[in-house]
Amino acid sequence: MVPEHRLEMTNIDIPVRAPALTSVDDTILPFEVAALDSRGRVVRLGPSIDTILAAHDYPPPVAKLLGEAVVLTVLLGSALKIEGRFILQTQTDGPVRMLVVDFTTPDRMRACARFDGDAVAAAIAAGQADSGALLGRGLLAMTIDQGADMNRYQGVVALDGGGLEAAAHEYFRRSEQIPTRVRLAVGEEVSAGHGGARHSWRAGGVLLQFLPKAAERMRTADLDPGDAPEGTAPHQVQEDEAWVEGRAMVDSVEDVELIDSAVSSERLVYRLFHERGVRVFRDAPIRAQCSCSRDGVGAMLRSFSVDDRKHMVKDGEITVTCEFCSSTYVFRPEEVADAQ
Ligand SMILES: [Zn+2]
Repeated sequence: MVPEHRLEMTNIDIPVRAPALTSVDDTILPFEVAALDSRGRVVRLGPSIDTILAAHDYPPPVAKLLGEAVVLTVLLGSALKIEGRFILQTQTDGPVRMLVVDFTTPDRMRACARFDGDAVAAAIAAGQADSGALLGRGLLAMTIDQGADMNRYQGVVALDGGGLEAAAHEYFRRSEQIPTRVRLAVGEEVSAGHGGARHSWRAGGVLLQFLPKAAERMRTADLDPGDAPEGTAPHQVQEDEAWVEGRAMVDSVEDVELIDSAVSSERLVYRLFHERGVRVFRDAPIRAQCSCSRDGVGAMLRSFSVDDRKHMVKDGEITVTCEFCSSTYVFRPEEVADAQ
């Protein structure tokens, strides 16, 4: 990544400018805090997340949860150096049994959820519709798919009632062994418009990783006690001070700062790290765009047996609705008959 826009707040001889005031929606902004040996990204989603969530019309807590999954997916997928797809998927025993977010490099994303409507309504009525409760327990899988001839990489981590932030921390601790902190936020903005108030979804997130040159500085304190005998004092690990400081900064970010269109991504990282000096890189766009097409759906229908297709016909037509973007495709049976 080319360090285009330098936002140096230290007094070394690099051109300095003030952080941009206004937010640029639907972008991801990489940054570096060299003094803390840390790098990160801020994602800010406006129209793109509203497009995805409005297309589904899920109950608001489900939309919020899916929005969090989208933010996490963009934070992780946008860092891939390869061309391909990054797919984040949950499979759990809670009211929301599945989330799928599909990120295609460099900038396209789509997402959907499967849930039990009655169980979601009951959770809302009981005041237990936070993300962790909606998910319940199960697995979070992250897959990198580089195309037909390439190996797929999959990382899996347990979801344990704690939500997506907690699962991300656990994944990086166990699998990647990189100290990582993530904050995710999703909210609804109400603006006055013609014909009444308009609701739109906004989302944002920040990720920070501690990447010192010396690997022994990356130890973290929250490791399992292991098979230490009962009553043994837990092994006290002295975490690196730079990481303790960086992590605390990310933990201090409030939801409203991540979704407020009046706080630009640059101002957010400046607010957090200006005492240490922070450099931002060129931001990159993110857009909501599904990969479904009439040709693709037609090919999928042709792959079914004649008998299966016959059962799909209703009022002389086969109607397929994309689960990701809610686009509807209508075919006459003869259009998707087997090729002769
Ligand atoms: Zn679609």
